[in-house]
Amino acid sequence: MERVIVVGGGLAGVRAVEALRAKGYAGRLTLVGEEPHRPYDRPPLSKAVLVGEREDTTVDASWDSLDCELLLGHRATGLRVEDRVLETTAGDLPYDGLVIATGAETIRLPGPGHQHVIRTIDDSLALREKLVPGARVVIVGAGWIGAEVATTAAKLGCEVTVLEAAPAPLANALGPELGALTAPWYAEAGVRLRCGVKVASIEEGGVALVDGEFLPAEAVVVGIGVRPSLGWVSGLEVENGLVVDASLRTARPEIVAVGDCAAWWSNRYGRRLRVEHWDAALNAPDVAVASLLGEEAVYDDPPYFWSEQFGRMVQYVGHHPGAERMVFRGDPAADRSWAVFWLDGDLLRAVLTVATPRDLMQARRLLAAGTPVDAEKLADPSVPVRNA
Ligand code: FAD
Repeated sequence: MERVIVVGGGLAGVRAVEALRAKGYAGRLTLVGEEPHRPYDRPPLSKAVLVGEREDTTVDASWDSLDCELLLGHRATGLRVEDRVLETTAGDLPYDGLVIATGAETIRLPGPGHQHVIRTIDDSLALREKLVPGARVVIVGAGWIGAEVATTAAKLGCEVTVLEAAPAPLANALGPELGALTAPWYAEAGVRLRCGVKVASIEEGGVALVDGEFLPAEAVVVGIGVRPSLGWVSGLEVENGLVVDASLRTARPEIVAVGDCAAWWSNRYGRRLRVEHWDAALNAPDVAVASLLGEEAVYDDPPYFWSEQFGRMVQYVGHHPGAERMVFRGDPAADRSWAVFWLDGDLLRAVLTVATPRDLMQARRLLAAGTPVDAEKLADPSVPVRNA
């Protein structure tokens, strides 16, 4: 292999570049990234950067020794898989190996008004300007990102309203019953949460609801989800992400995909998964690159992510849809720390922890190893999770 191109300058992209060199690939290497910045971490964008505690989240990579041509500010515009050519705004680039890591892009709402989203550092810095004490901030979407922005905006003294179409926050991610357990956190932080509300459009100066109500705002933030950035791809199967096997290969072995844009086959869960998690962008590139270089490798880590909501560390590992039962540890209504375990028989499928990182860490090990657990012990906060 003489020329490998990595498309997408996010975490998965830089990790792919590092993994290629670490595995001894000595050929020509090019990274094509649409943003003008070197790869940086996104999790702080809705947290430390937005609150003003950090300015720069650039990934610490040794670019000099990586010997990688950086085509920043350029994007892929097309793909000719038969010819092995990537079309870009910098011209056509032939490749022997291609790593697709173009991540995801935010979904917007209709209407002429300005909509803030948070995907890039520039988005975060632009919104930060608006989060001044007393500013009316309307956030559309009570998902992970919406809750994080609400946390930050409330901390900065804004008057925050969160609108959610579903009956509860996090309903899409966790289901309405579990999501509803997080609703009191909003009130506690002084944030107004309105669920079951349908937004019609974003207008100049505020948000118009379907029922005719208008909510005035100095800043409107739309956090209703993302879609994989694959509009430029052709000749490969795309179905809620670029379809790849358990080794992260597309149907063409010289093309692999990783990160938010990839829908990979999980042997562990017996289904295709696409996640938008930092941990997968960090770790999956090792496997993708090994596959590209002809090694046998499989990515099957249980998906893991965290979110910081209203002063609580919320963490999740696994994949719970279809699990047989749910076991609570602690009382979500009374305790600040609690957890939920999803089980099939005596095997853990997924775990959600609130303000109890130790439980998450121990459960993650049990889950990854496939260790059988005792549900009664799991439910008892006096028994360490590792002994359940
Ligand atoms: P991205 O980070 O999206 O990088 C893809 C890059 O490719 C982008 O720079 C994009 O501009 C570029 N690109 C797109 N199209 C093209 C093209 N055609 N040509 C060239 N370049 C292109 N995860 C957690 O687990 N915990 C958290 O707390 C958390 N917080 C988050 C907070 C925010 C505000 C955001 C946005 C994400 C958060 N995430 C979190 C998710 C995590 O950051 C992502 O899963 C991770 O960034 C995915 O990395 P990636 O490299 O796959 O994609």
